[in-house]
Amino acid sequence: MDMNLGMRSESEALLHQVKTMIQDEIQPLEAEYHGEIDKGDRWQYTPRQAEILEGLKATAKSRGLWNFWQSDPQLGKGLTTVEYAYFAEEMGKTPLAAEVFNCSAPDTGNMDVFARYGSEEMKQRWLAPLLAGDIRSAYLMTEPDRASSDATNISLSCVADGDHYVLNGEKWWASGAGDPRCKVYIVMVRTGGDDAPKHQRHSMIVVPADTPGIEVLRPMQVYGHDDAPHGHMHIRFTAVRVPVENMLLGEGRGFEIAQGRLGPGRIHHCMRAIGQAESALELLCQRALKRQAFGKPLADLGANFDIIAEARMDIEMARLLCLKAAWYMDQGDARAAAPWISQIKVVAPRVALKVIDEAIQMHGGAGISQDTPLARAWTHVRTLRLADGPDAVHRRQVARAELRTYR
Ligand SMILES: Cc1cc2nc3c(=O)[nH]c(=O)nc-3n(C[C@H](O)[C@H](O)[C@H](O)COP(=O)(O)OP(=O)(O)OC[C@H]3O[C@@H](n4cnc5c(N)ncnc54)[C@H](O)[C@@H]3O)c2cc1C
Repeated sequence: MDMNLGMRSESEALLHQVKTMIQDEIQPLEAEYHGEIDKGDRWQYTPRQAEILEGLKATAKSRGLWNFWQSDPQLGKGLTTVEYAYFAEEMGKTPLAAEVFNCSAPDTGNMDVFARYGSEEMKQRWLAPLLAGDIRSAYLMTEPDRASSDATNISLSCVADGDHYVLNGEKWWASGAGDPRCKVYIVMVRTGGDDAPKHQRHSMIVVPADTPGIEVLRPMQVYGHDDAPHGHMHIRFTAVRVPVENMLLGEGRGFEIAQGRLGPGRIHHCMRAIGQAESALELLCQRALKRQAFGKPLADLGANFDIIAEARMDIEMARLLCLKAAWYMDQGDARAAAPWISQIKVVAPRVALKVIDEAIQMHGGAGISQDTPLARAWTHVRTLRLADGPDAVHRRQVARAELRTYR
């Protein structure tokens, strides 16, 4: 029996369907799907790859297993963030699952931006196809020449010229921008001068991916992997013209939108990381019991009991912290929730990395090879200590909230 805190019974039933579909229908196709990426152009889908992905999406959609991230019942399932934590954890267990249920980054955050701040036209043109899973999107904030963990440094210029804005500059680590289905970018730009207050100098603007002047320079590599066909792209903007209506909310309101966007995105990554840690512990235990050395199963050797116990305890602590942060988000006070999101943003990747690393160790050479999902999981989770804000920035938020009481 699972202790699912804060879950309504109808959500439990949906979660059961998600678990079953992941185990019975998604996981069995993962290896074939990833094998297809190496055939031909890595940045296009092979017919079989598209068939697997679109087939699974169509199945999920037809069963109503779709857009769980969206708490508005008109657009999704009306799950609370606490409930969604259990769904995202399951989806974290296998790479394809989040997209199959239309719950993947960065689209969920971008859909949220369109839903909350977009004009009617943007909702028609971008939100509707994103909600339907027909297109994908990217979020462009980080820049090569600026310490982007401090977003007040963002410099890509955006200057009004008649009924257009003109954008010049570079972005990198634009996750998902390599995908041929990625049709739209939400871009953080600088619009205000030094005379404007620090948090009102930036704006967010919607840029169709096929606008002239956009050049995708290269995919950034993650420990030597290009993550095709999703990709994390380095992109140059040269005199890119977009209509003034593409500005979200208005000039100077970029930080307001970024805060609304990044909170949920961050915690979703954490929920999935906990799922990855659970999967790694499962593999670790199976291996520890199945393989023998020095006349005993690996489990019975050296400190392996302690390693298994520590992993279980760390995962449980991380999950409860994640649920607490999710609960704060459900109370609707973003400011109160922020330090809790920062705590889990540091803790979840740290715990998942530790557990995955121990699982790798228990597998010996096989652990770092292509024969288990562990090496890939480790590199993915390692990036979470940087993406959506490095650990140090989140620890700073936690300490500031802690000290606020005493100042
Ligand atoms: C796989 C991956 C995917 C990503 N996807 C996206 C995306 O889709 N869109 C996007 O815009 N960005 C994305 N990013 C970028 C990511 O958000 C940035 O790398 C991150 O915000 C840090 O910015 P930076 O790289 O400029 O590091 P910098 O700002 O240069 O920081 C470097 C280091 O400085 C130290 N530091 C910074 N601030 C402090 C502090 N207050 N106290 C102590 N030390 C500090 C930390 O050690 C930090 O890691 C992605 C990154 C990765 C790796």
